[in-house]
Amino acid sequence: MSFCQILLIEDSPSDADHVLECLEEAAQVNNKACCVVTDWVSSLKEGIEKLSQKNYQLVLLDLGLPDSFGIDSVRRLLDVNFDIPVVVLTGDISDELWMSSLHAGAQDYLIKKDISPQTLFKTISHSIERFKLKLELKKAVAQLEVYSQKLAKSNRDLEEFAFIASHDLQEPLRTMISFSSRIEESTSDLLSLKNKEYLSRIQRAGSRMQNLLDDLLEYSRINSENQVKSQVSIKEVFNDIWSDLELVIKESSASIVVSDNKKIVQVSDRGNLNSRFLNDCDFLPDIFASQSQMRRLFENLISNSIKYAKKDTKPQIQIKSLRGFNDNWVISVEDNGIGFDEKYKTKIFEQFQRLHGASDYEGTGMGLASVKKIIENYDGAIDVKSNLDQGSVFTVSLPLIQKASFAI
Ligand code: ADP
Repeated sequence: MSFCQILLIEDSPSDADHVLECLEEAAQVNNKACCVVTDWVSSLKEGIEKLSQKNYQLVLLDLGLPDSFGIDSVRRLLDVNFDIPVVVLTGDISDELWMSSLHAGAQDYLIKKDISPQTLFKTISHSIERFKLKLELKKAVAQLEVYSQKLAKSNRDLEEFAFIASHDLQEPLRTMISFSSRIEESTSDLLSLKNKEYLSRIQRAGSRMQNLLDDLLEYSRINSENQVKSQVSIKEVFNDIWSDLELVIKESSASIVVSDNKKIVQVSDRGNLNSRFLNDCDFLPDIFASQSQMRRLFENLISNSIKYAKKDTKPQIQIKSLRGFNDNWVISVEDNGIGFDEKYKTKIFEQFQRLHGASDYEGTGMGLASVKKIIENYDGAIDVKSNLDQGSVFTVSLPLIQKASFAI
């Protein structure tokens, strides 16, 4: 502290004299380090007037004034001038009163009978330093808020771009695919085998690009806003998924069980679906969410667990539903498939990232990116454990009750 202007608001002349003397002595003792100029007023009204006329570095405020009492004085003072540290002066202070003063914005307190040049100097210099740090923190938080708003905007722009790009690219692509099949049909007698192969490669690449654009479009549509949320029955979501995947389940001869810690329900046995699923799986929860997002999330995980099966082994899938901590619902999808090296466990959730070639397993690499985006929209989490050739377990945790701000 090199130069300091202090405002003393104190109605008792003897207490004020003592403080002024201590300040003077403190300034002499620390003369190289500090020079204290003090104004003294005896009511809050005068104090507020002084504060509006002059720049002070600190206010020493008596809590028992003729025109104001207790923490109310701190509040009224800081209402007028927020950017000033206040040290309260009091005959005695309970923990409760100190906490209220702190919450009202006071930096520190001094018990009047303990005031000495040393305690006064120490408290003033510490309060001013603390207050400076508080202001810096406030500035940093405000800056962070600006950055986070910019980031949110650039994310929105990026999503909009992905939406427009994927949407607008679809039309010319459809035209290219359709005209190449017309060429194939009308010239099939004239084309050499080699040229026929070239044409069919164009069509395969075209339909792959169509899948990529579809997935990109869907991905860009996932966001926490614009989604109709309601109380969604996960039992019914799963039921819809079984009908969507019926053919895949049949063809792969997959066996699927759904369980909680009390009950096990067989959904399919070597490809044959159990039609009683809806009655049997009454332990699956309802969740406040978007029906279509929940379906997309679990359909991705379950279809992957069937798709990434070992060539010579029928898929066996276990879905476990549990109540987690803090009203969280934890659900895991475990398979006995090809698995993967866990060093890729972050990469697989990124857009267009695949560990397996399209010739071995079809896909776009957008499924798990969408899964992650949906889960993050609900403040949930996903984790995966996997071992090459032994299978994988994807574990999702979702809050059953959404925060008020999230609900529509
Ligand atoms: P896609 O299946 O379209 O390739 P995903 O985003 O769903 O895209 O998955 C990303 C990659 O993660 C997959 O290409 C695959 O390599 C790996 N993967 C996902 N699920 C499993 C699973 N159950 N078992 C083994 N590998 C998986």
